[in-house]
Amino acid sequence: MSRRLISITLLFLILSSLSNVASAQPPPARLSSGNDLSIMARDPFQIFDNFYFVGTGEVASYVIETSDGLILIDTLWDLEGFREYLLSQIREVGLDPADIKYVLILQGHRDHYGGAPGLQEVIDAQFGTAEQDRRMMVADFGEYAPRIDFIIEDGGTLTLGDTTLNFELTPGHTPGTTSLRFSVFDDGTEHLAYMHGGPGVRTDDLDAIKTFIADLERIKQIPGIEVQVAGHFDSYLSGTGDLFDRAERLANRQADEPHPWITPAEFQLFLEERIALTRQVLEEPP
Ligand SMILES: [Zn+2]
Repeated sequence: MSRRLISITLLFLILSSLSNVASAQPPPARLSSGNDLSIMARDPFQIFDNFYFVGTGEVASYVIETSDGLILIDTLWDLEGFREYLLSQIREVGLDPADIKYVLILQGHRDHYGGAPGLQEVIDAQFGTAEQDRRMMVADFGEYAPRIDFIIEDGGTLTLGDTTLNFELTPGHTPGTTSLRFSVFDDGTEHLAYMHGGPGVRTDDLDAIKTFIADLERIKQIPGIEVQVAGHFDSYLSGTGDLFDRAERLANRQADEPHPWITPAEFQLFLEERIALTRQVLEEPP
């Protein structure tokens, strides 16, 4: 091989490795009113004895406190400042991010998992998501996708200390959207909570839409759900106020008033509303 050919080959190798480096970065996120921290920062707060809101004014992130450490649900954005924001939210409610044992990623959209790779640099926790959404993150984020330590299965459980979470896969918003059931405690009294990982359908595959509706119908039949936990501030029955309206009611709650998150009838109506909305999509595909 001539010297010139060797140097051209070397140049090609260097350039191609540089382009690999470039493609390993996530595509830049567009700053919008929904992910601009200067607009979307909110005070964190305790909702139940063992449950805390640590998210933003748009997308939620929650902490479940157990007898053996913390479980973080969703990780917010990867934009500058978000990791420090999330860590400081957790500290502000009196918890230590170093106690996080598990991080659950309920859907493969960037507002829910973008913060995970940065978080993995500073906390020693096990990160889990559904296989379909793990693949989605790798497809969208390439080498910058978060490390996934365990796969969440339909019907699976996760136990940490005194707390067990029950998982089910509810695809439709993403291919592996995860939902969960767990107990929350209001001044010691136990209530069953349900968090749907993505109650808005985002596919035009008719079979997937039917599955999404069937899952909502099935969730309606689960006995004893009293508390609805929302992944976004406005994922509630229309006309009932958003997450921060509830927070205000909670902050001003009198001793004889019910907890604003304990609304079993409203949860049923929310599911019915979502079923009706999704049926419309089925009747008039986009
Ligand atoms: Zn989403």
